[in-house]
Amino acid sequence: MQKQYDLVIIGSGVTGSALAWMASEYSNIKRIAIFDKYGCVAAVNSQAKFNSQTLHCGDIETNYSLEKAIQVKKSADLVKTYAQKQTNADKIIYAHSKLLIGVGEQEGDKINKRYQEFTQNFPYMELLSATQIDKLEPNVVKDRKQPIVAMGVESDLCAVNFGNLSRSFVDNAIESQKVDLYLQHKFTRLSHIDESYQLTFTNAGGCATVNAGFVVFATGAYSLTHAKSLGYGHNYGLLAVAGSFYFSKNALNGKVYTIQNDKLPFAAVHGDPDINAPNRTRFGPTALILPQLERYKHNTYLDYLKVLGLDKHILIAFKKLLKERDIRNYIGRNFMYEVPILGRRLFAKEVQKIIPSLTPSNLKFAKGFGGLRPQVIDKDKEQLVLGEAHIHTKEGLIFNITPSPGASTCLHNAKQDIQKICCYLNADFNMDKFNDFFTNNL
Ligand SMILES: Cc1cc2nc3c(=O)[nH]c(=O)nc-3n(C[C@H](O)[C@H](O)[C@H](O)COP(=O)(O)OP(=O)(O)OC[C@H]3O[C@@H](n4cnc5c(N)ncnc54)[C@H](O)[C@@H]3O)c2cc1C
Repeated sequence: MQKQYDLVIIGSGVTGSALAWMASEYSNIKRIAIFDKYGCVAAVNSQAKFNSQTLHCGDIETNYSLEKAIQVKKSADLVKTYAQKQTNADKIIYAHSKLLIGVGEQEGDKINKRYQEFTQNFPYMELLSATQIDKLEPNVVKDRKQPIVAMGVESDLCAVNFGNLSRSFVDNAIESQKVDLYLQHKFTRLSHIDESYQLTFTNAGGCATVNAGFVVFATGAYSLTHAKSLGYGHNYGLLAVAGSFYFSKNALNGKVYTIQNDKLPFAAVHGDPDINAPNRTRFGPTALILPQLERYKHNTYLDYLKVLGLDKHILIAFKKLLKERDIRNYIGRNFMYEVPILGRRLFAKEVQKIIPSLTPSNLKFAKGFGGLRPQVIDKDKEQLVLGEAHIHTKEGLIFNITPSPGASTCLHNAKQDIQKICCYLNADFNMDKFNDFFTNNL
């Protein structure tokens, strides 16, 4: 007989695994399964090699307005609380200093203004002079010709191994005995049968079929492919933006972010200690537009073309993007960063905003690092949507498409999803237990 589940989650990255834990811990849903096509949990964008490992709070990211930053911080605080309560917290979350630097008078004014605007909601952030920056990050001040100021904090839990976080969610979910994990099971088909869904997966033995009352796709860019094949999300197209990194030897003690050009839709390059390699600093990510759905998987080009949904509206959205000179130059520059030797020289100029004394020979392209951000294009508005996209069909299906800061907001998104799922399945979400865990002192 086929296995019957109340809830099936496809994808064991940080989105799917956070939901599996949230469902097992705070709802009375009893039969839950999580499936992934790879042989381990979080093998794609959530693994530590593929992202910037930053718990985004909006305090050092100038692409977030105060309003957005307050929202993102609330979500990030959930991850912070969860991580600190785990016995292996030291493998999940890490404390570093973090700075947002402003170079030159104009940027200095922006930092001052942002500090005044943010200080009430982010009271731990301080305005730092060159001398104070020098104490935290000597390489940021060394050989700098222009004035520099920063807003920052000496120590904050701001780096996360999102792969280990996903594994922690899955381990805790399995321990509840309500959740089954199936690895090396690739979702291929879904059909509606009576009141539930029948799902087919291919695996080493051929194929497996299960039934589910509710299905959540947490398959990154593929969530949109699956949505479209099932008749949803046709008002969306997709821009796949890969992010590469360069390494240098230990050049920074903590995270150093720069002010973003307001005309660009993606965060400026930043420098971060690599949590998996204590003697290495990572610079990036770049923003490379690629016709792929999964980075380094060349067999996903065709899948991309299918989901792009190329039509008049998408072309207008692209035209709007490319109309801006800064964006055209930025796209071109990001292609060049991938070119051996020349790319390193050009990228060094970018990094010199953070560390003036750094030379191209100090940098090494991080081969095999950096995933892909699935940025959705809204065909009705004919424009790029920044942040996550979520398709809730109200028919027992959810599709999550999660570019940055999707890892930082995983628990917030999981909470939103589980409440919708409980409502559909007539199940209960235990808000008191949730509040107790997330508001109680550590
Ligand atoms: C360069 C870069 C830097 C980033 N930096 C940050 C950062 O610093 N902070 C932050 O918060 N966010 C960051 N992000 C975003 C973050 O990495 C993602 O939002 C997050 O990892 C998305 O998690 P996910 O679980 O939705 O997707 P993924 O981690 O990609 O997981 C999707 C899962 O679905 C599985 N899957 C796909 N298709 C199928 C199928 N047919 N059957 C079964 N399983 C399937 C895959 O195997 C995979 O395990 C960054 C992203 C990139 C690319």
